[in-house]
Amino acid sequence: MGMDAHHSRRSFVRAVSVGALAVGFDTTSRAWAAQAPQGAAADFRRAPHLDGRLLIAPADLAPYEDDFGHLVHRTPRAALLPGSVRDIAAMIAFCGPLGIPVAPRGQGHQAFGQAQAADGLIVDLGPLAAISVDPATSTATVGAGAVWSAVLAASLAHGLTPPVFTDYIELSVGGTLSAGGVGGASHHHGAQVDNVVQLEVVTGTGQIRTCSATRDADLFHAALSGLGQVGVITRAVIRLVPAPTSVRSYSLVYPSVAALTAAQRKAVGDGRFDWLEGTILPAGGGWLYLLEGSAFYDATPPDDNALIGDLGSIGAPQIQDSAYVDFVDDLAPTVAALKASGEWYDPHPWFNGFLPDTAADALVTATMDATTPADLGASGLVLLYPVPTAKFTTPLLSVPDGEIAFLFAVLRTAAPDGGALPAAAQLRENRDLYLRVQAAGGKQYPVGAIPMTPSDWRTQYGARWQAFRAAKRRFDPHGILAPGQGIFAPA
Ligand SMILES: Cc1cc2nc3c(=O)[nH]c(=O)nc-3n(C[C@H](O)[C@H](O)[C@H](O)COP(=O)(O)OP(=O)(O)OC[C@H]3O[C@@H](n4cnc5c(N)ncnc54)[C@H](O)[C@@H]3O)c2cc1C
Repeated sequence: MGMDAHHSRRSFVRAVSVGALAVGFDTTSRAWAAQAPQGAAADFRRAPHLDGRLLIAPADLAPYEDDFGHLVHRTPRAALLPGSVRDIAAMIAFCGPLGIPVAPRGQGHQAFGQAQAADGLIVDLGPLAAISVDPATSTATVGAGAVWSAVLAASLAHGLTPPVFTDYIELSVGGTLSAGGVGGASHHHGAQVDNVVQLEVVTGTGQIRTCSATRDADLFHAALSGLGQVGVITRAVIRLVPAPTSVRSYSLVYPSVAALTAAQRKAVGDGRFDWLEGTILPAGGGWLYLLEGSAFYDATPPDDNALIGDLGSIGAPQIQDSAYVDFVDDLAPTVAALKASGEWYDPHPWFNGFLPDTAADALVTATMDATTPADLGASGLVLLYPVPTAKFTTPLLSVPDGEIAFLFAVLRTAAPDGGALPAAAQLRENRDLYLRVQAAGGKQYPVGAIPMTPSDWRTQYGARWQAFRAAKRRFDPHGILAPGQGIFAPA
């Protein structure tokens, strides 16, 4: 792609972003930008001595005003490449009294400016990526900037693995622990946040704290799935389990949403698979409903009939064996192809929500009836994962009431030049769908691009809202952390 094409694509998404904001959402950090101290750049020149580096040149800052969504662009004043946790503490302590916003950033793969900070400081966790595995305690101690593929490699060297992976494993540990981290093994092990033993967190006052479920528990519970609001996670101790060598995967086709979810409920109910997901794929102008279940094994492959004999799909099931490491990283070839075609760099107005079981069939059916494959864009797809809510024990990972919820992800790609709906229209569809999901008692899974109002955030956290707000005030009294989430107004 030449520079001109790149430039026009960026111009397009900037226009979309302004259009989306014009409908009245997500103005928090822009409101802050209007009040930003004019001397912020000069202030950074008086920053403390650092072990790492502070970037302030516009060319160095360009990557930090973008993310996987390519929908929102906010220019920071500086980015910290920390040489130590002390650097993060010193810079946060420096920024707080000046009211300079600070956004922690892992891989920048959220879709709606969540890891950006207008006129603020980006803390790029990338350099803090050390990993050490302790087979005696079956844990990994991991710098928050490490990506999960590196955690997998280090763990496998000891025959161990994290119990839960997201579908894409080039996301940072700090990034997914700030959100949740949901995947095919979540129906057994909860989200990644439910498998954390201890955290090191730098709070909004620049204090370095070690916390766990039994030590400084308020901070621990506000940092996990806390969307960066109370502190920067700098290190995590993660639970590991024995790794299998092989995986047998089954793809079963169903004619409707209801048929798919009925099979998923049955499989969740008896826990027969180690890994369970569901995908709705464009096929022949309509949709194909796919249950994807996998069983781990070492020497002896599982009994196919026991696993899928009573799941009643149509057509012949597809069965495939893979090495565990390839299975966990099976999105890698698709990502390489999307990068090669350029679609990876198109806007991604993704919808991610948790649907209550009672409303899932109706909501998904109505959504698919109203959506054409072209609406999703060339690489768009829809995911539907059943998750037993009892497995989700992290207070701030909001899921609906009921025994089972469905993670519903409408992964849209907006192409600037035809095919898919423009991004602004897709954002409006996300908003409409979110309102239907909220009315049915569902939640958003806050990693995508759903325009939210302050009242939506209160509804999102329900009975936990007061505790979240109290934790924000206590641990981030200057109100500087992760403003791109747009949850709390600046202090
Ligand atoms: C291709 C793709 C596939 C995905 N698949 C899944 C999936 O299967 N399951 C799933 O659950 N999610 C999935 N996601 C969503 C993903 O888990 C989240 O977007 C995650 O937050 C991205 O991590 P990151 O390192 O890019 O975070 P960033 O985008 O850099 O940051 C996300 C948010 O967390 C904050 N943050 C980042 N690091 C820290 C830290 N160390 N301490 C405190 N706050 C921090 C940021 O300020 C920001 O608000 C997927 C995303 C993509 C793009």
